[in-house]
Amino acid sequence: VMTTIYNFAAGPATMPDSVINQIKEDLPSYANSGMSVMEISHRSALFDGIIDDAKQDLRDLLGIPDNYQVLFFQGGCTLQFTAAPLNLANNYHRIALLDSGHWADRARDEAQRVGTKVDVLASTKADHYTKLPVLKSLTQNTYDYLHITTNNTIEGTAYSELPDTGATELVGDMSSNFLGQQYDMKKFGLVMAGAQKNLGIAGLTIVIVRNDLIGKVKNLPSMIDYDLFAKKNSMFNTPPVFAIYTAGLVLKWLKEQGGVSEMERRNRQKSGLLYDFLDNSQLFTAPVEKAARSLTNVPFITGQPELDTKLIAQAADVGLLNIKGHRSVGGMRASLYNAMPYAGVEKLVDFLNKFEKNNR
Ligand code: PMP
Repeated sequence: VMTTIYNFAAGPATMPDSVINQIKEDLPSYANSGMSVMEISHRSALFDGIIDDAKQDLRDLLGIPDNYQVLFFQGGCTLQFTAAPLNLANNYHRIALLDSGHWADRARDEAQRVGTKVDVLASTKADHYTKLPVLKSLTQNTYDYLHITTNNTIEGTAYSELPDTGATELVGDMSSNFLGQQYDMKKFGLVMAGAQKNLGIAGLTIVIVRNDLIGKVKNLPSMIDYDLFAKKNSMFNTPPVFAIYTAGLVLKWLKEQGGVSEMERRNRQKSGLLYDFLDNSQLFTAPVEKAARSLTNVPFITGQPELDTKLIAQAADVGLLNIKGHRSVGGMRASLYNAMPYAGVEKLVDFLNKFEKNNR
């Protein structure tokens, strides 16, 4: 008998079975072309269909207004930590940032490397990032934007309410709850998100940016020039064809499943099952403050590193893979992105329950 495998990795992450099957089916000959999708030109009608559908499906699913561009980049979300300040921080050359953990700190570091001043307006470092930094007030309008991480992949926190930035633009790194939790896109000047969690495979990063924010800086490096990519339909050079095709399949799947509101409902249900178990456990602790808890990344600990190690190994033996926490925080982390079924979380909770009984 084959054990069902559930992959709780934080990214690259589990994908819908139906998408993997579609890829298998399409792989030798895409749309009866006699060519694999890996082999077709990005300057072909076949690929035009793929990229245009993916963009439109993203617009539909997220309710992206017409005055925003949907752009496809390579270089991961990390490259956008460079691209966003170079494109947008062109007036004050200064941005504000809420320090909610590792990825916010990486965004700060990359912005500073290209000469942008970064003011950290609030930080929860002293709380080991088990809470979210709260913006008290942003009265002065001397920042090109405020950067937040909507979901903190490593620390397991997520904003359910966005900070009120007044006249200052809001930039959101949505990598780990993109398409998994609803936000009003109009509240953002720019959203960035890597694809390898909720939108398929690594190699593709989405940027959604309001038209009036771009085209102000001349002679940026072409590969990070938002205005150039907007004018070239994200095909200034060879785009990551296979990653865009895969994203397109995931987006079609999302539409069939009922869209982002349905995904958020399921993610609340899945994470709720796990948090409820952890909160009632005598062995496990979920360290994040309740109001700040992520729907997609759930860190938890026993408080005993050797026991954590034993648990992670035993979990793998029964097909519950990649529940080891990030090296910076230790313990365990279960990532429950859109493609993780409820049954996977049930199996995890059942396993944790038995482990607790056996290790009291
Ligand atoms: N931001 C967040 C919230 C992330 O989780 C990650 C990756 N785990 C990144 C940025 C960096 O993305 P990439 O590896 O695509 O550069």
